[in-house]
Amino acid sequence: MWDDLGVYLREVNGPEMANKSISELVALDPVSTSRFIDNKFKAMLDFIMSSDEPLGKVTHYFWRRVYQSRGAQHFHLMLCVKNAPILHESLLDVVASFISKYVTCAIPDKNVSPTLYQRVTSYQTHKHNKYCMRQKKTRRGFVKVCRFGFPRPVTEILTIRDIIESIATRTTLSPNSRLYYIVRKKECVMINYYNPAILLAWNGNTDIQYVCEKTAILNYYVIKYTTKSEKTHVADMFQDINHKLIRDINSTKPLRSRLFNIGLRVLSNRESAALWKPVTFTWYFTLYGTDPTTTIRWLDVNIFRNRRVKSKSDMMMLDWTPAIVIYYESWIDDHYPKRPKELENTNLYSFAQNYDIVKTRPVSSKVKYYEINDGKKFLKRRANPYLINHYFYDGEQVPEKYFFSLLLLFKLVERRA
Ligand SMILES: [Zn+2]
Repeated sequence: MWDDLGVYLREVNGPEMANKSISELVALDPVSTSRFIDNKFKAMLDFIMSSDEPLGKVTHYFWRRVYQSRGAQHFHLMLCVKNAPILHESLLDVVASFISKYVTCAIPDKNVSPTLYQRVTSYQTHKHNKYCMRQKKTRRGFVKVCRFGFPRPVTEILTIRDIIESIATRTTLSPNSRLYYIVRKKECVMINYYNPAILLAWNGNTDIQYVCEKTAILNYYVIKYTTKSEKTHVADMFQDINHKLIRDINSTKPLRSRLFNIGLRVLSNRESAALWKPVTFTWYFTLYGTDPTTTIRWLDVNIFRNRRVKSKSDMMMLDWTPAIVIYYESWIDDHYPKRPKELENTNLYSFAQNYDIVKTRPVSSKVKYYEINDGKKFLKRRANPYLINHYFYDGEQVPEKYFFSLLLLFKLVERRA
């Protein structure tokens, strides 16, 4: 449906592609298609962050690219909106008017807004398929129920339910398990929530939901599904590669061909649908991103952690005494245990969250910093803390790793001189 994509693909591919349909062009040129989608999505982000404020004043965002099995990409996006009301803290009326200001499920007038009408009827109308219909046991036997809750109830006023109740009934496929129901007429029972400005700009299916609170646990719940797939694979993949390396250590094959095999393995493990494989590998489109003021620091909370060997040039400058250390320093194994006396009572989590290491002495008198490495470097307190990311182990499946990671992050360790 993206005519602009068709124009672009014909332009970059030359005259022999002139008679092909957009679907054919997409299949023939996934590289240009991916670039186009990527640019269009970045443009959407610019629009969302613009002074037009289609979704309010957005202060932070996080997005995740997902490849569906048959090839199409879609994006999950979490936005933090300034002064958005919070359930149980703000008046229900305020919450209700916030939701209805940005979200609707109405079918617009065909004559007044023909373009929006076309977008709503073609992208926002839910059609059941074999993935959404689930078996549900009732007193009258098994019935098929749509897991997205379509058709949705007709209501004349916006209703909001209790959050705990809503999450608890979500798994039972109850027809009334949503947190809120906005005003909906009889002819709109199959229409999914949308924002008119966003739908017009994106020209494709969208889904928009208000998240009623701002605790870390709820945020985690919201993004858990969008971030889990690759995270869990990475650890296993490196384990695999490690084993292979150890097995191959006496191999007669040249190093170059062994490395090439490892490269192939990494690629075949990377997430993306078959159609997009060459694209994702060659261009390395990132799978997720945040607004520029949100920065994420990764902490390896494994019991056995990887260390990075110093570069050749750094290695050449070393003094080769028996006490030589050929690894770069790390937050967990070096900086944290050697932290300044003033930070004695700081745990690893908040230490890693709030400090950076810089080579020059901070000039501003407002910045808090400490000298480290005999005054060669400085530990500088950040204005905005990092978001800490780490493996989330399952306490039931791998209790040793789970408890180890918690102790590592939150238990104070004694300073090491
Ligand atoms: Zn359905």
